[in-house]
Amino acid sequence: MSVTLATVSYLGATILFILSLGGLSNPETSRRGNLYGMIGMSIAVLATVLGPQVTAAGYAWIAGAMALGAVVGIYAARTVKMTQMPELVALMHSMVGLAAMLVGFANYIDPAAAGVFQGVEKTIHEVEIYIGILIGAVTFSGSIIAFGKLSGKISGSPVLLPGRHFMNLAGLLVVVYFGGVFINTHTVADGMTPLIVMTVIALLFGIHMVMAIGGADMPVVVSMLNSYSGWAAAATGFMLSNDLLIVTGALVGSSGAILSYIMCKAMNRNFISVIAGGFGTGGGAPAAAAGGAQPAGEVSPILAAETAELLRDSKNVIIVPGYGMAVAQAQHTVFEITKYLRDKGVNVRFGIHPVAGRMPGHMNVLLAEAKVPYDIVFEMDELNDDFPDTDVAMVIGANDIVNPAAQDDPTSPIAGMPVLEVWKAKTSIVMKRSMASGYAGVDNPLFYKENNHMLFGDAKKMLDEVLVALKT
Ligand code: NDP
Repeated sequence: MSVTLATVSYLGATILFILSLGGLSNPETSRRGNLYGMIGMSIAVLATVLGPQVTAAGYAWIAGAMALGAVVGIYAARTVKMTQMPELVALMHSMVGLAAMLVGFANYIDPAAAGVFQGVEKTIHEVEIYIGILIGAVTFSGSIIAFGKLSGKISGSPVLLPGRHFMNLAGLLVVVYFGGVFINTHTVADGMTPLIVMTVIALLFGIHMVMAIGGADMPVVVSMLNSYSGWAAAATGFMLSNDLLIVTGALVGSSGAILSYIMCKAMNRNFISVIAGGFGTGGGAPAAAAGGAQPAGEVSPILAAETAELLRDSKNVIIVPGYGMAVAQAQHTVFEITKYLRDKGVNVRFGIHPVAGRMPGHMNVLLAEAKVPYDIVFEMDELNDDFPDTDVAMVIGANDIVNPAAQDDPTSPIAGMPVLEVWKAKTSIVMKRSMASGYAGVDNPLFYKENNHMLFGDAKKMLDEVLVALKT
């Protein structure tokens, strides 16, 4: 493939990636957005493999790597459960980081590259390598820890080492110092020592940064690592002089940064301190260690048949889904109930919290899968004022996102986080299996409110019972 054709293909792929991002911003256009992304990526891969930078000798290696990647990808796509998606995404971010690191080292030791860059160009190329490996290493180790936390393999509680900010600052100074040493070396052998020292520090920094973040703050970390993975890809693009990788990386990096900002707003966190990597130290402590008054009182259990009766007698119902709905895979029954009630003239709407579930848009994906119409799915801000006029607020496997302590208790680890004010409805019903806390490990005073009932059990099982009761 000629250089011109490769450039035109890259341009086409870039446009498709931008259209893809545009499409993904709305549930109705997201399928199209996905398709654009897939076509763009196919063009990008083909143009790169057949492009001027790859010789025929490399085809067998590339085919082998692609076959291996395809097998792993197809296996993961087929076996990973919806509730494991956030972990998978974190793992994929770690792969981008690892790739950036490996490409950086390969680029540096590549004998073919020796002597290609001279003077200022050599310095610029070495800075690209240094920064690429740095971002890659932070993304890699940070994402591995995020994977561990999201999958429950590592405790969600924050690990706060004494003098951690000082350690981060010291690490940064050492990295800058060795950066200077690195670009002043003249042989690959001399340059390896500062490069390896920096890589080790960056890996430790990634671990330290994410370990220090508590459960309730993980959504921001997930989107932040998404952004970092984009910048790692862009850095790889600079190292390989590949324009498409630079543009694609920048698109992922900046869209991830915008998502982080949106998540910060949803969590009432400060974006700048997130970027600085020193945030959330006071938040997300587990219930036992966390501050905040423990709620007390009686809870009022309710049966499925009684729930059905309340729903049947309602004019306005708001359903608030959370992580438990994903665990129970209850979305299809939720849709059946919604359809039944709407056919009977009940105004049923859905209230979606920006951090509900375990990844951005988690609930929207589930509801779309169950074919819930988009026009009855609302964001938290669009619906929060409507709870006082709501007969029944039905909370399905959600906990932290409906916790009134976020508003009432300034000592709570989730204090200040905007929440769906379900307790303002005439009646709220919380559907979950036990009195256990949610991801943030905080007890929930909602359960003890006078107008609240608890429908204990697996959400799918209980909703099936509610549906049967509604229909009989
Ligand atoms: P929570 O984790 O607060 O609560 C989920 C509840 O679901 C649990 O209390 C659990 O209670 C219940 N549950 C679990 N399985 C079932 C089941 N089979 N049937 C019925 N109930 C079930 O979820 P929310 O969605 O309310 O809040 C999201 C939390 O996750 C926030 O703290 C957010 O910060 C965090 N987070 C969000 C991310 C994102 O990007 N959206 C990423 C990472 C973390 P029980 O065991 O009693 O059934």
